[in-house]
Formats: sequence, structure tokens, C-alpha cells
Amino acid sequence: MARDYRCGVGYDLHRLEPDRKLILGGVEVPYEKGLAGHSDADILMHALTDALLGAAALGDIGEIFPPSDPQWKDVASEVFLGHAVELLRSYGYEIVNVDAVIILERPKLLPFREAIRTNLARILGIERGRIGLKAKTSEKVGPAGRGEAAEAHAVALIARDAAPKVM
Ligand code: MG
Repeated sequence: MARDYRCGVGYDLHRLEPDRKLILGGVEVPYEKGLAGHSDADILMHALTDALLGAAALGDIGEIFPPSDPQWKDVASEVFLGHAVELLRSYGYEIVNVDAVIILERPKLLPFREAIRTNLARILGIERGRIGLKAKTSEKVGPAGRGEAAEAHAVALIARDAAPKVM
């Protein structure tokens, strides 16, 4: 049967502030600052959630999980990502692969990359070989480069069996 492929893109930015934990892909990265915002402000999971929702044209993270709804207030970002995965499954989609870039001046993320990919594989229900993850600096310019913020970009490819065309 023909497959119906959809790709989606996601982006997120949060400010870096003292006295916050730096949580990326659900993994705590030791650093003097962390991301500010609702719950853990996990930019990677937020960008991935938006990429998955976008691929299925199901809206965005703020629409599906409004902070004004007590059900979603201050929950861990893993809950958003896990719920987006469930939502896609309910529409018959499976995740083919995801890829992401984190833009952060410091600290270096390479030592944490495999732990993050392993955690994402668990939540997404796909093998690690289908999860790309890179980290880049921003050449000391812009909010990320000045250490004021961190950004994440993500893409996702999803697929389901194509519905037969009605002639
Ligand atoms: Mg966010």
C-alpha cells in the first residue's frame, strides 16, 4: 500500500537564567544557568513536539497544551512530547525519524548527546538510529551567542498508510 509521508518543523527558544536547571531532552546538564519558563522549559522537547504536531497538521504546542489549562500547567515537557506521540498514533501515524539542532554557547553538549538520544528514543518509541541530534554555538552573537538564551530547531518525518483514493 502507498505510504503517506508528512514532514514537520519545530522551533523554540527560552532564556537562560541563574537558579534554573538546564534540562535538554529530559537530561539534566550541569551548568551555572538553566532555561526559564513553564516547568522545565526543555527547548528540545518543545521543538520536537511542535515538529511532530506540525507534520500531522494538528496545531502547535501552545494550542494543544495551553498553559491556562490546569491539566498542562507546569507539567514536565516529556508529558507534552509523549502526548503528541500518542496523538499521532491515534491518527495512524508512525514516526520515521526526527532530527534536531540545539544552539547554545556553553556548555558543550557532546558528553550528554547519547543520554539525550536514549531518552528521546524511549519517549518517541523509535530506535536511536532514527534520532539525529547536533549542538552548535552561535559565534558569540545573537541571544544564544551572548549566553542569554538557548534555541532548538527540529524536523520530524511521519508516515501512515495512504487512504485509497475515491474515484
Ligand atoms: Mg518552550
